[in-house]
Amino acid sequence: MHVMHLALSIPQHALPGTLADEFGGAAVVAWGIAGLLALLLAGSLVTMSRLRAAMHRSEREQEKTLQRLIHRRDELEAALRSMVEGVLAVDTDGKLISLNAAAAKLLELTPPQAIGRAVAELIRNDALRQFIAESLDTDQVIETDIELPPDDEEGASPRMFEAQGSVLRDSESERIGSLIVLHNVTRLRRLEVVRRDFVTNASHEIKTPITAIKAAAETLLESANDDPQASEQFLRVITRQADRLGAIVEDLLSLARIEQDTEHERIVLEPRRLEEVLRVAAEACAARARDRDTAIDIDCAANLAATVNAPLLEQAVVNLIDNAIKYSPDGSSVRTSAKRVGTEIVLAVQDAGVGIAAEHLPRIFERFYRTDKARSRELGGTGLGLSIVKHIAIAHGGRVSVDSAPNRGSTFRIHIPANHA
Ligand code: ADP
Repeated sequence: MHVMHLALSIPQHALPGTLADEFGGAAVVAWGIAGLLALLLAGSLVTMSRLRAAMHRSEREQEKTLQRLIHRRDELEAALRSMVEGVLAVDTDGKLISLNAAAAKLLELTPPQAIGRAVAELIRNDALRQFIAESLDTDQVIETDIELPPDDEEGASPRMFEAQGSVLRDSESERIGSLIVLHNVTRLRRLEVVRRDFVTNASHEIKTPITAIKAAAETLLESANDDPQASEQFLRVITRQADRLGAIVEDLLSLARIEQDTEHERIVLEPRRLEEVLRVAAEACAARARDRDTAIDIDCAANLAATVNAPLLEQAVVNLIDNAIKYSPDGSSVRTSAKRVGTEIVLAVQDAGVGIAAEHLPRIFERFYRTDKARSRELGGTGLGLSIVKHIAIAHGGRVSVDSAPNRGSTFRIHIPANHA
């Protein structure tokens, strides 16, 4: 068996700090987790020479040293085993010296059979094989992103790993191979994509009214005194588009505030009667409802209470009532309700309006997602209303749901845990 395999199975004697002191840091290249592990592994090698020295001492001393070494080895193995990062050590010939449980799972390898074999045969992923070869070819710490096929736990898309490779040296500073650490960054990369898309969408949404304002202002400048009626029309366009711009910015700010406050647990929840929450929200929508000849009903037991942030929950219900009015014909009615269902309190806003086709339902709570952009804009929508509702539900430890069918109307629900009550 190769020397490094021995190194892993022979216990380590000193902690990295002590090792670095003793060997002036020359034993290993220390860098991040890879460096730390390189230190630990090199430590195991150092212990071999100590073991040899110990042979010449008394038997009792030998026994004590051995026990200590076994203990250290167990500690090192436990540390490697419990690491979520995949760690593998490869010798200069490209043969696998050692790997931890996470790496074995990731690369679908069985350690006893895999150790001692060439990684070129063992590892199916081309990019990772090439990365290991590159790492063996350089004294630098290198890193790259590697895509691995999906697994059941993380859904259907490929998993992204950040691979780091660093030099593995023995106690004489001789290079004995490379240490490869694989860190799962799938969630991080997904979040980066979401953030990038969001910036693109937000910029586009903001650009639209700005373009309209600019065009109207330029036309107005060119034909300033020609036609007072036309001038008034352009000024109205400018006012409407400026309002739109204001609404988008206001919704973006409120979304950011809710998300930040939730993250920092700054949302204050207090016991409140839900009938009051529904009534305040309905009153806030009364003028718009009157304009569309729409009635708003409230169905809630007078004593039903929950621990909530009333202003936020009211804002969520206002958004839902507002949509219910917007996406229903004049003369409709909107029903708001709150009741306890099992372990949850469910607030619902139901309309008999245009409804939503099934294909849109999974994405309807996403920022800027709209079934009909032109119609939403015409009705003064920002495309952020439902996303705000969702984040308010999350801020209460809850969730949202929707039932809808075209021309049959929609029911939007906010579910919050009843144990908050
Ligand atoms: P908007 O500002 O466009 O209304 P929202 O986030 O509030 O943005 O809603 C997103 C989209 O969901 C709307 O553009 C509309 O297509 C659809 N929608 C929301 N509520 C309803 C409803 N009650 N009935 C039908 N469609 C709705």
